[in-house]
Amino acid sequence: MSSSKTLLVLENFIAGKFVPCSSYIDSYNPSTGDVYCRVPDSGKEEVEAAVRAAKDAFPIWSSKSPLERSQILNKLADLIEHDLEAFAQAESKDQGKTITFARTVDIPRAVYNFRFFASSILHHTTECTEMVAMGCLHYTLRTPVGIAGLISPWNLPLYLLTWKIAPAIACGNTVVAKPSEMTSVTAWMMCKLFEKAGIPHGVVNMVFGTGSKAGEAIVCHPDVPLISFTGSMLTAQCITEKSAPHCKKLSLELGGKNPALIFDDADLNQCIPATVRSSFANQGEICLCTSRIFVQKGIYNEFLKRFVAETKKWKVGNPSDPAVDVGALISKEHLEKVRNYVKKAQAEGARILCGEGVDSLVLPAGNQKGYFMLPTVITEIKDESCCMQEEIFGPVTCVVAFDTEEEVIERANGVKYGLAATVWSSNVSRVHRVAQRLQSGLVWTNCWLVRDLNLPFGGMKASGVGREGAKDSYEFFTEVKTITIKH
Ligand code: NAD
Repeated sequence: MSSSKTLLVLENFIAGKFVPCSSYIDSYNPSTGDVYCRVPDSGKEEVEAAVRAAKDAFPIWSSKSPLERSQILNKLADLIEHDLEAFAQAESKDQGKTITFARTVDIPRAVYNFRFFASSILHHTTECTEMVAMGCLHYTLRTPVGIAGLISPWNLPLYLLTWKIAPAIACGNTVVAKPSEMTSVTAWMMCKLFEKAGIPHGVVNMVFGTGSKAGEAIVCHPDVPLISFTGSMLTAQCITEKSAPHCKKLSLELGGKNPALIFDDADLNQCIPATVRSSFANQGEICLCTSRIFVQKGIYNEFLKRFVAETKKWKVGNPSDPAVDVGALISKEHLEKVRNYVKKAQAEGARILCGEGVDSLVLPAGNQKGYFMLPTVITEIKDESCCMQEEIFGPVTCVVAFDTEEEVIERANGVKYGLAATVWSSNVSRVHRVAQRLQSGLVWTNCWLVRDLNLPFGGMKASGVGREGAKDSYEFFTEVKTITIKH
């Protein structure tokens, strides 16, 4: 890794080799504001080389048995786990997230993604039906699609990239992947482990660079029949348009404007710390973070008082300090965008109860130029406000009151997104009733971010197209064929 004086310079990983690029872009350490790394600025040429390598590797890789592939995935998981601390340090430095979050969430989940798909690939079955009168037997076969184009965002860099790479290669595809240009380091570190894990050259190719150059080159390449993308709705629209002429298979995991519905009978002792966490974990830079909190009138005042007090306990500062709860936001531009949302809310007459513009932020000497912001709670805000409608993707949450179940369901559904919702109530019938009516791909009741990777993950409405998970990823990363035998 780099010292403070030398820049870390990444290289693309193509056909099992690290290859330099002709031009590079700067990558910043969000907690200091310094350039600390240079990332290849790849384009069509590099993507072409990566696609060629993936094409060459496909026959060997796709003809391996699921068990052979499973063993390799498990080996890679072991190798990442062995270097967990180095990966966590790198992720925290690159993204601005706290070292605690990287150690306990990002990297363990990246390891688990490989273990999970190493196991699940061994347990799929296909279908068989019989037409006795016709003397026919039908069955289905699943085969890998080919070269998978995988494009991931900056908020959970290795976690989300491996959530795509693991099922893609477990199913026998080869890969051209592009992590976010702002957080490429842990993907590059992982490439160093592929050979030792036994991944043949060309099975996973990593091309670093921007979305408009490297990303589009993958999306537009005629030999990449499948794109799995996680990122913003605007980019998803662009990918959909550009890939349409090729009729590519698309999986789109997009943003959210996630509501929490907190009823009078909620257990506030559990609900309040969990909702602070769901609002501000990873600086609010998780697509599943809560950003609209609807609280029933009977407990509204008590909730607000306790919620703000709990929020104020969250310490903002140097992400490498294990006592810190909130690290730096990803970039100067993003910090500015998030701050502007708070300013707009203020201009509309909303009240800021804590955080941005209300409390003062004291930072350590080395972090004065970092992109930090206090967790911010907004109230007295209208449902139509942009802070209640648009994805802010930062440490900002809005709290509003409601009267009835009917009313809150309608208001919770009143946004273009539909990714994740939480419902807090001790009435089991209500929990089922409300969950059933929420327009949301995921509903957590009396908890948040509890995931079983076997089950579908993904959003409704503008939050995405398709689902990922054991069965869903298997279906996405394979083609199904129906075969009929007349006997
Ligand atoms: P983004 O859309 O700007 O970028 C995501 C990736 O797409 C990056 O690798 C980027 O380089 C690439 N890209 C950009 N333009 C492209 C183009 N024209 N063609 C091909 N690739 C292109 O998103 P972001 O800012 O990195 O991430 C934040 C967004 O991701 C938020 O909206 C967040 O909610 C969403 N997200 C969703 C999930 C989910 O699972 N639903 C998870 C994490 C993040």
